[in-house]
Amino acid sequence: KVVARFAPSPTGFLHIGGARTALFNWLYARHTGGEMLLRIEDTDRERSTEAATAAILDGLSWLGLTWQGEPISQFERAQRHRDVAEELVRLGKAYYCYATPAELEEMREKARAEGRPPRYDGRWRDRSPSEAPEDAQGAIRIKAPAQGETIVHDLVQGEVSFPNKDLDDFIILRSDGNPTYMHAVVVDDHDMGVTHIIRGDDHLTNAARQTVIYNAMGWAVPKMAHIPLIHGADGAKLSKRHGALGVEAYRAMGYLPEALLNYLARLGWSHGDDEVMSIPEMIEWFDIADVNKGAARFDFAKLEALNGVYMRAMDDRALFDRLMETLPHLPAGEVFLARLDTTAKARLQQAMPGLKERAKTLVELADGAYFIVADRPLQLDEKAKTILDSDARNVLKAALAKFRALGDWNAETVEVAVRSLAEDSGLKLGKIAQPLRAALTGRSTSPGVFDVLAVLGREESLARIADQID
Ligand code: GLU
Repeated sequence: KVVARFAPSPTGFLHIGGARTALFNWLYARHTGGEMLLRIEDTDRERSTEAATAAILDGLSWLGLTWQGEPISQFERAQRHRDVAEELVRLGKAYYCYATPAELEEMREKARAEGRPPRYDGRWRDRSPSEAPEDAQGAIRIKAPAQGETIVHDLVQGEVSFPNKDLDDFIILRSDGNPTYMHAVVVDDHDMGVTHIIRGDDHLTNAARQTVIYNAMGWAVPKMAHIPLIHGADGAKLSKRHGALGVEAYRAMGYLPEALLNYLARLGWSHGDDEVMSIPEMIEWFDIADVNKGAARFDFAKLEALNGVYMRAMDDRALFDRLMETLPHLPAGEVFLARLDTTAKARLQQAMPGLKERAKTLVELADGAYFIVADRPLQLDEKAKTILDSDARNVLKAALAKFRALGDWNAETVEVAVRSLAEDSGLKLGKIAQPLRAALTGRSTSPGVFDVLAVLGREESLARIADQID
């Protein structure tokens, strides 16, 4: 049975690359009928925060990426990490090193002078423990193989070999008794029964060192899949400008989690030419064997277009509900929400078909719907002001007269009235619709003007038009 895991470090938000890693683990676990565990890598006490852990859990929940069991805290397992390090010493696979900071600095100096990467020279590797200086707390170093090579069998990268002369006897337990990250990851993955490690390819060199620890303990190395990092649309490493933001930033930009998942799934993996995939389809089709080696490119425009597809495909009621639950997370969403009384809510629902055609994100949807909650007299944007010149005001007057004479008020009856006004006056329909739109919404773009009239209702529509005549 497949046991995958997502192992974020709680030093910041769940960023987009982390979300994609979580998604691939989750899809693979689902695809194989296995499970995904969650481990919070909070060993680095200086940089880990509770707030970051909460943000990561929140981001995963928003995306619907569920895990089995309780999240595991790496820090809480420190005693077990110590025990394993000491066991390695007993097994003769690791040793205490008492090199002083000055000695280590000397080794680094030497490496710098010779223009090579720093390397511990193994000076305590073969010394007897009886030589340990009194009262000194040693660090535990693994005995890394000196010759040959360590091979990482990677499901994405293939066989990657690392010359052992480049892997020095690295520390697994610091002299203060704290495990190193490298060591903690191995012990945890082993104890958690992890069968598949799917993570960013920035961890590929760690995989070689971790393999040394697995081998020393005689533990089977889990299958590994180092997935390519995400780059910006221009091919450069992902930066904030490119979209290297926390997932909550995507929520605040008005993306739907299902659209974001669909977009992320295709960053580094694909299924033929399929662009829009449901979650069950992704689960059915996902396989590590189909993950690309090359870096994936993050393209905001594509994400936005895909989000628009998802929004238009949603039924009006579901989209309305989604907007309502997302508003608190959108900029100015609270203001909008506070203005939504029962009448405005009903109007918003009625306007949904026209609104969703014009919006690619929930932010655009809320913005397009703002006219519903706007106070009278409406504030006009620049284009609306230009439309409402003196000719247009005369058109509004004539329209007002027609509308006042109407019996029933709905999209059909107002359309008949506007068309009859066009005939009477010889004006093109647009010459009437544009001033009406400007007066009713304060903008030059909106859902169809007959729908706007119907949504606002007779009283509100007449009042808004009258506001612009006086
Ligand atoms: N904590 C590491 C990170 O956030 C992941 C380590 C791993 O997956 O092995 O980059």
